Amino acid sequence: MFFRRRFQSPDPPPGSEANFDLQRERMVQIQLTGRNITDPRVIAAMGSVPRHRFVPIALRESAYEDRPLDIGHRQTISQPYMVALMTQLLRLRPEDRVLEVGAGSGYQAAVLASIAQSVVSIERIESIANTAAAVLRDLEYLNVEVQVGDGTLGWCDGAPYDAIVVTAGSPSVPSALKAQLADGGRLVCPVGPREMQQLVRITREGTDLREEVGIGCVFVPLIGDAGWSE
Ligand code: SAH
Repeated sequence: MFFRRRFQSPDPPPGSEANFDLQRERMVQIQLTGRNITDPRVIAAMGSVPRHRFVPIALRESAYEDRPLDIGHRQTISQPYMVALMTQLLRLRPEDRVLEVGAGSGYQAAVLASIAQSVVSIERIESIANTAAAVLRDLEYLNVEVQVGDGTLGWCDGAPYDAIVVTAGSPSVPSALKAQLADGGRLVCPVGPREMQQLVRITREGTDLREEVGIGCVFVPLIGDAGWSE
């Protein structure tokens, strides 16, 4: 019997765009579809947004690992799975207008903007907001607007929103955010003590707010009027 020897082509060189594409493909397969991420829009968005462009250059090789990464100012870009899960919980549709509280690196905003019509993302630290806005502009995510401010108060200009996501841990869901949620809108927020939270989803049905509690998580604190003090 003859066996044909099969040669596997080697991975593209580290640091090349082709190598990042491959790492991203593996991230989607292993960390997302291998778990419970099933929304095709979320899978497509996570497969298209170049996460390595949203992390400090020194950490690019780690961008697709299964963990959060430091982005300076004691803040982090969330783990890919957490970004995908929160986006999936929002049940986004292409016509949705979205508010994000905690722009950070701008990565989650890019994922949201790949699915929804428009995204307003608020960040309290100005230099972080500027970096995020510059990357989003470079990558031509033209439907994202980054604003500097206290996101616990929401952003009145674009309200009401079909979806609101808070990407920092809060003692409770800020009431201004509930007020800025459109009828049928979904809000996802990590809620709990400073060191550890649970994902909470609120769905507005007219004047009713339906609340569901999801998995445990660890986020940096939401600091502001309706969040933690510094
Ligand atoms: N979504 C981000 C991760 C955010 S980390 C990403 O994809 O990279 C949480 C961010 O929330 C930090 O940048 C922090 O400065 C910001 N933040 C904390 N409290 C805030 C508030 N009240 N308003 C706006 N941003 C806030």
